[in-house]
Formats: sequence, structure tokens, C-alpha cells
Amino acid sequence: MTQQARSYKEELVGVFGYPVAENPTCVMQQAAFEARGLQWRYLTIEVRPEQLADAMRGLRAFNMRGINLTIPHKVAVIPYLDRLSPEAELIGAVNTVVAQGNELIGYNTDGKGFLRSVREDAGVDPRGKRVVFLGAGGAARAMAVEMALAGVSHITIVNRTPARGEELARHLRERTHVVAEYVPWQEEYVVPPDVDILINATSIGLFPNVSETPRVAMSSIRKDLLVCDVIPNPPRTAFLAAAERQGARTLDGLGMLVYQGAIAFQMWTGVEPPIDVMRRALEEVFGS
Ligand code: NDP
Repeated sequence: MTQQARSYKEELVGVFGYPVAENPTCVMQQAAFEARGLQWRYLTIEVRPEQLADAMRGLRAFNMRGINLTIPHKVAVIPYLDRLSPEAELIGAVNTVVAQGNELIGYNTDGKGFLRSVREDAGVDPRGKRVVFLGAGGAARAMAVEMALAGVSHITIVNRTPARGEELARHLRERTHVVAEYVPWQEEYVVPPDVDILINATSIGLFPNVSETPRVAMSSIRKDLLVCDVIPNPPRTAFLAAAERQGARTLDGLGMLVYQGAIAFQMWTGVEPPIDVMRRALEEVFGS
């Protein structure tokens, strides 16, 4: 009987962030690699901003298959990449890098993950819908660009800091075909009656500040509105719970987190991602 040579080499991916210790993506991706029998390892790596250039050289030197980027590297990483996908270029930020031959290619899967969750978890086709985003940060930008590309008819950006909100609305108008406007966020936001989808894209309500909710007049939340939250931890935010009490349908941020990771998994490995395994792994982390 001949003995087969065993390979001890693992294919490496991971995340660069600062801080990064509490990022749970490793749990989801590692569970997916194991479920698919892949000899891959997802590393959670703390990279200080001033060491990003060295870290990207290390990524190439270690022949890593790719990397996720989180705060504060999503924009700063761009000069170290060979190419960007059209969506990453439009969003202006990268959360997933894929190594292809000698090239590092930047993608943004945050907005695509959200879109897939809207379609598959909420069962809503965004085409022709009127959408309101609370917030204009990195997550709102990625989601709004993908929603515009998916054919929503109208986007309203509601943000505390006017310059950031105005800039995002202008960017959407100039770079996509969507009708987009900025609305200042002074008092409680009253949701207009023709809005189809309302999205909290701020960090309000994120663990440990779980009792905080964005300032929205809850009486303006109707039964036929889809109310979404980007916050994955806790999945059932106080905002979503309040919207449910008004009779609205809700969509939590866990689906977005699972799908953005699943899209990265598929791009890195070429293997169909085990969505249920990934979701369960995160649910265990968040205790839901
Ligand atoms: P940013 O820091 O880029 O943006 C934060 C946004 O929240 C800004 O619009 C900011 O307004 C607003 N904001 C924060 N605090 C308040 C407040 N007290 N009152 C009013 N507005 C406020 O963060 P990101 O966009 O990267 O992330 C936002 C959230 O999205 C985070 O909680 C993150 O965990 C979540 N996220 C979830 C993902 C998922 O897969 N589910 C993926 C990525 C992010 P201003 O401009 O005025 O400062």
C-alpha cells in the first residue's frame, strides 16, 4: 500500500483592523471552511494604520489568498491594490481583497450583502422602491450605491452632520441614475408616507449601547414599511423591536454580515458558501 503525501500547508485569509480583537468574522469563516473540508485559516490581525503598507507587503510575501479590511483601513488600503471592482471604485472603499495570480483586487461586499439579505431574507425586490437611509458613513455609502445600482427609484439620506449627508446624496446623483436628496436630522425624523424601505445605517443601538434608538417618530412607521438595521449585535435592536410594535416588517443586520462574508468566501475559495453554517456560527457569538 502506498502512502499519500500529506500537505500541512494552509491557505491563508483574514482581517486587518485596528482595533480588531472583537471582530467575530473568524468564527463564521472558520466554521464555513470546516463545513466544506477546506484546509484554510482565517486570521484576525491587528494592523496599526502606520503599518498598513508593511502588512500589505506581508500579505503578498505570505502568498495569502486575500484579506478583509475593517476600521480604519477600508479606504487607506486602496493605494496598495492593483485593481478595484467597479462597485468598490464607486463606493470608494474596500472590505475584501482577493489575490489573483500576482494581482490584489479590491471589492466591497457590504452593500451586496445587504442587497442579498433584502431580497432573500425579507423577500423584497428593491427595484422602483423609495428608500431612506439614516446615516451617511461607510456602511450607508456601500448600501446606498448598491441599492442605486439595483434600481431603487429614490434615495433620501438623513444624517446628523450635513456635509457628510450632502456629499453622499450628491455622489449618488452624479455617479448613478438614482434620484437622491439630503434631509437634515434635527428633531425626530418623520417617515414620509410614500417610503417603502427605512434603514438605520448609523451605529446607534450597537452593543453595549443596546437601549439607544435613532430619533424617528415611531407613529410614522407604517405596517407596509420594511424597517432594516445594519447593526448585527444585537440582531434584534431596540429600534427593530419598536418598529415591530408598530406592525412593520423588519430585517436585522445579521443577514448582511453573513452574506457579505459568504460573497468573500465564494470569491476566495471558488466553493459554494454554507450560508446556514455561517449564520449559526454568528448567532452563537451574538447569543441570539
Ligand atoms: P461610520 O463611522 O462610517 O458612520 C457612522 C454613521 O452613524 C454616521 O452617519 C454618523 O453620523 C452616524 N451616527 C453615529 N452616532 C450617531 C448619533 N448619536 N446620532 C446621529 N447619528 C449618529 O460607521 P460605519 O458606517 O462603518 O458603520 C455604521 C454601523 O454599521 C456600525 O454599527 C457597524 O457595526 C455597522 N455595520 C454593519 C455591517 C453588517 O454587515 N451588518 C457592515 C458594516 C457596518 P455623522 O456623520 O453625523 O457622524
